[in-house]
Amino acid sequence: MQKGYLIKNISIVNEGQIKVNDLLIADGIIQKIGTIYSSPDHTVIDGTGKYLFPGIIDGQVHFRDPGLTHKGDLHSETRAAVAGGVTGFIDMPNTVPNVLTVEILEEKYRIAAEKSLANYSFFLGVNGDNLDEVLKLDTSKFIGVSDDGLYFTKKGNLLADNPATMEKLFAGCKSIIAIHSEKEQIVEENEAIYKAKYGEDVPVEFHPIIRSEKACFEATKRAIDLANKYHARLHILHLTTEAETHLFRNDIPLDKKNITTEVSVHHLWFSDEDYNRLGTLIKWNPAIKTKRDKEGLLKALLDNRIDIVTTDHAPHTLEEKQRPYFQSMSGAPMVQHSLNIMLEFYKQGLISLEQIAEKMSHNVAILYRMHQRGFIREAYFADLVIVDLDSSWTVSKENILYKCGWSPCEGTRFQTKIVQTFVNGNLVFDNGIFDESLKGVAIEFTNQ
Ligand SMILES: [Zn+2]
Repeated sequence: MQKGYLIKNISIVNEGQIKVNDLLIADGIIQKIGTIYSSPDHTVIDGTGKYLFPGIIDGQVHFRDPGLTHKGDLHSETRAAVAGGVTGFIDMPNTVPNVLTVEILEEKYRIAAEKSLANYSFFLGVNGDNLDEVLKLDTSKFIGVSDDGLYFTKKGNLLADNPATMEKLFAGCKSIIAIHSEKEQIVEENEAIYKAKYGEDVPVEFHPIIRSEKACFEATKRAIDLANKYHARLHILHLTTEAETHLFRNDIPLDKKNITTEVSVHHLWFSDEDYNRLGTLIKWNPAIKTKRDKEGLLKALLDNRIDIVTTDHAPHTLEEKQRPYFQSMSGAPMVQHSLNIMLEFYKQGLISLEQIAEKMSHNVAILYRMHQRGFIREAYFADLVIVDLDSSWTVSKENILYKCGWSPCEGTRFQTKIVQTFVNGNLVFDNGIFDESLKGVAIEFTNQ
């Protein structure tokens, strides 16, 4: 039997409310919420003045395992995740080998069972090469299919760029189709213009003009039209422009939506004004765009056109990032700081604590139809995070847990602190101390 914990007198942020209560964890489960008297078999945690959130579920990460483990792996990056209050994640298919078959997918589950401190799930990769096989698969085996990151291995692997492939996929696929939405042809035309002007070393502030609003908007519009035509279940990954937000609906509840979308935390946090200071460290695909886009994304998140917040956590070594424009790798590590960033927006009066719980936990569980997770409810898994809203600290090399050892947030002072994180009732992160004796488990879901 697992150790029991009684959290006393804590402000519980859940399902649109904040209420001070006690909460009992035993055998991995939230046993009871209410007034609870302690017994000798409970470790008591005094929650006075602190806030309890459902554990963050990150719907898009690249933990690099297997095959790219010089950047990160399922142990190093999940340590960073739980230190940031993240208790579950969905990893993308561009590990090496790319996750294009069920056998490779199962291998990832095996590695995660051995190494991951958080609960896990994995997208199956889809491209023109494996489409016919994917359409024959039993969808209960994977949480969704995605093309994200696969274009790094082979040009032309972006679904958004292959209307014929996409048409066939949308007509036949019963699972969630999560796509990276940029029109490569527009990007390539823009690249040629800037290459002619600057050679290899294009100033990075042109990145959002090369990977332009038009490239994003046209791809997203086309994907939505196709999804509507076939009644497919489409999820657009990491939205970056204000213009695209108007393509999404908020007049129906999330569990009734066929078309959903997300914003990654860096597209809310940074804008093109930061390229000057941070250079290629904030080179992402799709790109960080203007302040107006950033504000439009937050607005759409708050009015439910955008459903969830993810990180697209994508570690690279500093050396891989600090190359000239065309060689500098796109993506950056974010998973340790996503909750802190959203809580900064709360401090600025831009979002409520209840909305943070909704967009980073409840809605991820609803969108991906996860079982017994994403909410603070009796009989649900005890995936929980305790937060101190009045404790400041600064991101520095000394407290970054990523294997790559750097963060675009270095030097940033956060006004809130992740104190403790429970995964399946195990106190995996306790004020900087890790208990790695128990590993995360595969997240169960319904996918059809
Ligand atoms: Zn990604």
